[in-house]
Amino acid sequence: MNIIVCIKQVPMVSELPWNAKTGTLKRELAQGMMDPSSRQALEAALRLKQGRGNVQITALSMGPPMAEEVLHQAVSLGADRGVLLTDRRMAGADTYLTSFILAEYIRKLAPETDLVLCGSQTSDSETAQVGPQLACELNMPAIGWASDIRLSGRTLTVERHVDDFLETLEMDLPGLVTIDQGAFAPGYAALGGIQDAFEASGVEIVNATTLGLDKGFNALKDSPTRILDVYSPTTRKENRVLKGAARSVVDQLFKEYGKTISSAMGKDLKPK
Ligand SMILES: Cc1cc2nc3c(=O)[nH]c(=O)nc-3n(C[C@H](O)[C@H](O)[C@H](O)COP(=O)(O)OP(=O)(O)OC[C@H]3O[C@@H](n4cnc5c(N)ncnc54)[C@H](O)[C@@H]3O)c2cc1C
Repeated sequence: MNIIVCIKQVPMVSELPWNAKTGTLKRELAQGMMDPSSRQALEAALRLKQGRGNVQITALSMGPPMAEEVLHQAVSLGADRGVLLTDRRMAGADTYLTSFILAEYIRKLAPETDLVLCGSQTSDSETAQVGPQLACELNMPAIGWASDIRLSGRTLTVERHVDDFLETLEMDLPGLVTIDQGAFAPGYAALGGIQDAFEASGVEIVNATTLGLDKGFNALKDSPTRILDVYSPTTRKENRVLKGAARSVVDQLFKEYGKTISSAMGKDLKPK
């Protein structure tokens, strides 16, 4: 059984260093870490592998060369191999092209894949779009936000929380599942073990040519999504004491903050 776990490297900072000119993240300025929900997907794969001799886990990432680090980490945690799709022509990909590039790898270089596991949404752009889009690209059935997965033969039983009830679904493989946040608390490997595996682990590097992407392919230009700006919203706190009779205080309140209150409550408020 061949499982591919899609793993994204995300910035380990709250402030994302943004290049307003190109509309892309200056990932090289931010120390990277394994996206927490990708980590959950890896944990789900490792649990499926427990006690099964014939399960191969490939950790797959598309990203800048520095993303190789999270694949070494994935192998040191128990994945069998790591594959990094990296090329200047892949930089600046939006979710649509990210899913397309990951799908190109699976279609062309891993057609024997039985199960693709993704996190539900990353901690940096949080679109939750890559998993479902990848399933579309691969024309695979998909189940999102899984809190538990069990395998019997080639049928996967998936549980997920929807509102306040638990849904149980079955899916015949091949298929794709996205793993809900907090569903699979990551196990930890001994530090010494991580270091050794890190050094020992080989990560395969695949560029745009090996993937057979067109000569003119350029993710930044070809991405249908344009991110115009990224900024942290500023919150403004101000204390004001309004004095006078209740009626005049309410009048003052609406005179000064009517618009803010209306938009906050989403309805037009006129004092009666
Ligand atoms: C602040 C910010 C905002 C952005 N907004 C948008 C936007 O609105 N629309 C848009 O199209 N793009 C956007 N992008 C670009 C987007 O980050 C990338 O396209 C990214 O590769 C996928 O989007 P995501 O992180 O939201 O993935 P999600 O869909 O949230 O990721 C879910 C899972 O998919 C897998 N996955 C995601 N990316 C990769 C990868 N590179 N390699 C391997 N597995 C992966 C992982 O398992 C992950 O847990 C934004 C980027 C930033 C930094």
